[in-house]
Amino acid sequence: MEQKGQPNFRTKQIFEWLHKRNVSDFGQMTNLSAQLREELSAEFYLNCLKIKKKLVSRIDDTVKYLYELQDGECVESVFMKYQYGNSICISTQVGCRMGCSFCASTKAGFVRCLTPSEMLEQVYRTEQDTGQKISNIVLMGIGEPLDNFENVMAFLELISHPSGRNLGQRHITLSTCGLVPRIYELADRKLQITLSISLHAPNNTMRSKTMPVNLKYPIEELLEACCYYIQQTNRRISFEYALIKGVNDREQDANELAARLKPLLCHVNLIPVNEIKERDYQASKKQNVIRFSRLLEQSGINVTVRRTLGQDINAACGQLRRDNRS
Ligand code: SAH
Repeated sequence: MEQKGQPNFRTKQIFEWLHKRNVSDFGQMTNLSAQLREELSAEFYLNCLKIKKKLVSRIDDTVKYLYELQDGECVESVFMKYQYGNSICISTQVGCRMGCSFCASTKAGFVRCLTPSEMLEQVYRTEQDTGQKISNIVLMGIGEPLDNFENVMAFLELISHPSGRNLGQRHITLSTCGLVPRIYELADRKLQITLSISLHAPNNTMRSKTMPVNLKYPIEELLEACCYYIQQTNRRISFEYALIKGVNDREQDANELAARLKPLLCHVNLIPVNEIKERDYQASKKQNVIRFSRLLEQSGINVTVRRTLGQDINAACGQLRRDNRS
């Protein structure tokens, strides 16, 4: 704006159009002169996402979007309604290179990282399409957020910027499979977001079988990094544990997990595993989920069982993909 001889406040006006009013075209920025709008349209472009496919769950009104990016690649986002407000699960990469055996997002490999604007756009286009405000964001879609560190940090800064969308960091959850050095880096930024760790097993033997990342960063190192995160931020960590029938849902697994997590300021989120076509993993039986949860509670650990949304449209955890065939 300075180069164009425009006053400083134009920058703020444009920022507000983009981040508060979700416009997708310079032409809609009506408090700028017609000439400036034309100049901007000629010289710049807005990196908007297109809805390529949209599925609405018949069970719970969850909406899954397949968004097309400028280069033709696609990612999925999921809009969910909870009692406390609307929530969106966004993707951070096209594909994923973490290779977790139970997760569909990694099956077609990794293509590239998303830019901050491609993450913001998933929120803004979904708000525009549903006509509803989003109050919570979870970075739990396709991709490993900490494998796209700088772009994710830029996204967090923009979405919580006071002149823009101004979403409180406490309304944002970042989920990671456990990239230990990046957890230390994140801790040092002292953000107020919730950190969620995909643990899924109580010991290294079991975890390494389903999550290759564990071969590089074993549980002991991961939990040490979590302790550091808690110290630095004073925030409680949330551990995710997908219960797979006959794999990690026995009584001894619960006891081993409880012993490991007891010293930490944490919360455990149990998720009966969602089925994907590449694997014959089955969700634990209801009584096993209850038993597992009780055993953790008896050790003084805070537990919730995640309600699964959007299962009929393959929109549940671990079911997101970057193609449009599912
Ligand atoms: N890469 C990040 C974020 C994406 S996955 C991470 O690993 O945390 C979001 C959550 O869904 C993670 O906890 C992941 O482990 C879990 N998940 C993956 N596949 C699943 C499945 N089939 N059933 C239940 N949860 C699954």
